[in-house]
Amino acid sequence: MNEFIPYNRPFIAGKELYNIAQAVIKHSHLAGDGYFTKQCQDWLRSRLGSPALLTHSCTAALEMAAILADIGPGDEVIMPSYTFVSTANAFVLRGGVPVFVDIRPDTLNIDEALIEPAITDRTKAIVPVHYAGVPCAMDMIMDIAGRHGLMVIEDAAQALLSSDSGRFLGTIGDMGTLSFHETKNIISGEGGALLINNPDLLDRAHIIWEKGTNRRQFFQGQVDKYTWVDIGSSFLPSDMTAAFLYAQLEQAETIIQKRREICDHYRARLVSLEEKGLIRLAHGESAAGSHNGHIFYIVTGELEERSRLITCLRNENIHAVFHYIPLHSSPAGKKFGRVAGDLKHTQNLSERVLRLPLYYEMSLDDVDRVADVISSFYSRG
Ligand SMILES: *Cc1c(COP(=O)(O)O)cnc(C)c1O
Repeated sequence: MNEFIPYNRPFIAGKELYNIAQAVIKHSHLAGDGYFTKQCQDWLRSRLGSPALLTHSCTAALEMAAILADIGPGDEVIMPSYTFVSTANAFVLRGGVPVFVDIRPDTLNIDEALIEPAITDRTKAIVPVHYAGVPCAMDMIMDIAGRHGLMVIEDAAQALLSSDSGRFLGTIGDMGTLSFHETKNIISGEGGALLINNPDLLDRAHIIWEKGTNRRQFFQGQVDKYTWVDIGSSFLPSDMTAAFLYAQLEQAETIIQKRREICDHYRARLVSLEEKGLIRLAHGESAAGSHNGHIFYIVTGELEERSRLITCLRNENIHAVFHYIPLHSSPAGKKFGRVAGDLKHTQNLSERVLRLPLYYEMSLDDVDRVADVISSFYSRG
């Protein structure tokens, strides 16, 4: 049997365990907001250009964003249905109503032309999700939000260091959220960050992050009592998690470069199937943007064909996966959200997208192996 090719394999950049030892022994700081948390936040700020607060997940960053956007019962938040559950859950936890709109078939991102028709007098925010690290139409989304007085929260969980017209994804809206979950490009097991691009939100963001206290103002000598001033929660990761993450951030460019090479190799090997109209390949580079090699997917024929291809790959010891079950058709999505317009692309493409194996240590020979199986699957018809 050929060696197993998983769809993801967490990559260790090198200094993770050393940094954790430093956090424990040298800095003696295991709780949140220690030396490595500050290192990571400084890295994000200097690299991306926005203040960042490290969180224990992107889910937590989205929950902070929902609080900062003042989402309350009945407030509507426009988002794609083709996304991970946390995009919606964070707002539902505040009593908000996710309003699901369709995606564009080319990028699988929210269709910006469908946002304005979904706006009502209850709409508070728009949450574009940069699927596979490929940019949403941010100029148009920011323009709509500006005209209607809405907040924009970018779910950039998959998009660290992807850019659009010279701007990093996650830094364009009022806030952006990042994930360092082990299935993402840059990892710390569980982990995330909130980017605060709108300076008006920064002070309150710190309070919510510090469990609703004015700890930061206290340490900066701005207030003389450290006390409970607002709602908040425990959103900080341990400094040991941050220590792990910092080792990864220092290698971020190398990791992304390698993943992009793997994507390019898949594309080169599979483009002939696309030319024959048998499959469609993941959205590639556009003139304005550059993606971070997070996901390489193909779009197969109908559901049954995808299932057969998954089985065929599995028989060759290759693990390819699909996602997402559209939120609007899930039990919780039906209960807590509503649909705006027809979600035909979401429905159709969620049954046809297949994520191919992609991880830092994947060799180009492994990519060839996957591509060969797919090619022979389609040559058999
Ligand atoms: C991974 C992911 C999340 C959740 O990230 P966690 O860090 O696991 O909480 C949210 N949104 C999208 C689009 C994701 O891909």
